[in-house]
Amino acid sequence: MAKLYFRYGAMGASKTSNALMVEYNYFERNQNAVIFKPSIDTRDGIDIVKSRVGLAKKAYILSPDDDAFETVRKMNDTKKIDCVIIDEAQFLTSNQVMQLCRVVDELNIPVIAYGLRADFAGNLFPGSERLLAMADTIEEIKTVCWCSKKAIMNARVVDGKVVKEGEQVMLGGNESYVALCRKHWAEGNLGNKNN
Ligand SMILES: [Zn+2]
Repeated sequence: MAKLYFRYGAMGASKTSNALMVEYNYFERNQNAVIFKPSIDTRDGIDIVKSRVGLAKKAYILSPDDDAFETVRKMNDTKKIDCVIIDEAQFLTSNQVMQLCRVVDELNIPVIAYGLRADFAGNLFPGSERLLAMADTIEEIKTVCWCSKKAIMNARVVDGKVVKEGEQVMLGGNESYVALCRKHWAEGNLGNKNN
């Protein structure tokens, strides 16, 4: 039986590299794994998913209005899909996660969703909230804070300072994100290397 997997981790936890390796493993077995990437705007088409270690692969954009079940069903009718991989799964809508449950249960295709659990303020993303509720298997991909404890928070950094208020998704801003442990996120402490 196919399953819905949610593999979450903070920024820099190699989620995209992991996703690309899974795609490659299917490819090596002459199987067809398809990568999707939800968009936060209505853009559609094809995007390139790149990891920090240099892997890259094309991904199909899912815009917020796209029905994930119908999209996968139609592609599967043309060429059999063996696995659906989602990059940046936190940006899925709640409805799209439910549609992906139908991909698993009705089409019997495994879905592996990679994403952040919570935003810069420590609130769940809607897609992640639904995935945590619905996934068959939830796995953490770990990364570390500068203090070498496990990083679970995604600090938003603007002008060298950790900010905790603002929109969940900033478009075209000058912010960056740093993975921190909860204590250092709470303190806004980026460690010496960033000060
Ligand atoms: Zn720390």
